[in-house]
Amino acid sequence: MEYKIETNSPEETREFAKKMAESAKPSDVITLIGDLGVGKTVFTQGIAEGLGIKDTVNSPTFTIVQVYDEGRMPFYHFDVYRIGDIEEMDEIGYEDYFYGDGLTMIEWANLIEEILPEKRTEVTIEKNPEKGFDYRLIKVKTID
Ligand code: ADP
Ligand code: MG
Repeated sequence: MEYKIETNSPEETREFAKKMAESAKPSDVITLIGDLGVGKTVFTQGIAEGLGIKDTVNSPTFTIVQVYDEGRMPFYHFDVYRIGDIEEMDEIGYEDYFYGDGLTMIEWANLIEEILPEKRTEVTIEKNPEKGFDYRLIKVKTID
């Protein structure tokens, strides 16, 4: 299944993500693909909010994964932008997160394509300069 939505502000993107999080189930995996500055972290903040997490969620700069335990289920936020080698994922025991009891969200998921679970929700965010600075096209595709 695939659908698209358009947003015209960070608030709208956050609100959309928040609604998505409300129907999330343990061991769901959401991958996020899109260029730098497109809104992956904004989207992630909406997901966190939807799970009831009040902590500030930013891109984990020095760690690949950030864990938030205060929501309705654990939230595992990966940003694999700086990953050098796929073995780094083995070292942190990624399977415990991906197939665990929380919601996993992976920014720059295309960089670790070979280890992504087959069953996942792929979110792609794109800009379109012709439609304005704050315009974003968000595509959601369920794969299983
Ligand atoms: P990424 O994580 O993809 O590198 P960020 O989420 O950190 O990007 O930054 C996205 C930037 O784009 C923020 O400064 C945000 O305010 C801005 N922005 C403008 N319009 C939108 C929109 N419609 N949806 C999401 N972010 C938007
Ligand atoms: Mg980011």
